[in-house]
Amino acid sequence: MTEFENAMKKVADMVHAAARKSGEILENTKISYNISSERDKIAKIERKIGSQFYKIFKDGGEVPEFIKGDLEAINAIEEKIRQLEKTISDSKPYKFCTDCGSKLELSDIYCAKCGAKQHDNAEPQEDDKCDEAESCCDDCCDDENKDDKCD
Ligand SMILES: [Zn+2]
Repeated sequence: MTEFENAMKKVADMVHAAARKSGEILENTKISYNISSERDKIAKIERKIGSQFYKIFKDGGEVPEFIKGDLEAINAIEEKIRQLEKTISDSKPYKFCTDCGSKLELSDIYCAKCGAKQHDNAEPQEDDKCDEAESCCDDCCDDENKDDKCD
């Protein structure tokens, strides 16, 4: 073998080695992925077991003593979530039923309490976009808002 051929063979060997190595890395990546997807399955089952115990606990059933603390922690968190949700619904804009005076959300069309149809602001408000865009703009839209309203 000439020196040149020798050098070329070395290069070829190196390329092969690198390819084999990256093939192994790829294979390992695949295996790691499989491992983590198997772990996900375990986590899913564990969550299911946990939520089944929590359901039993909430219904007043018997649960193992050692998990009671955790179940009570979930209870406390759920209570906190309820409080936070209440804060959101309290700050929503509201209106009163035109019939019985119950507090309703602005979007309610029927009263949740008496069922009366709401006649005031129940209809969805149309934005005042020009529907005859070609001819109306100069008349009905001021120049400042022209681009927003007329297209
Ligand atoms: Zn009502």
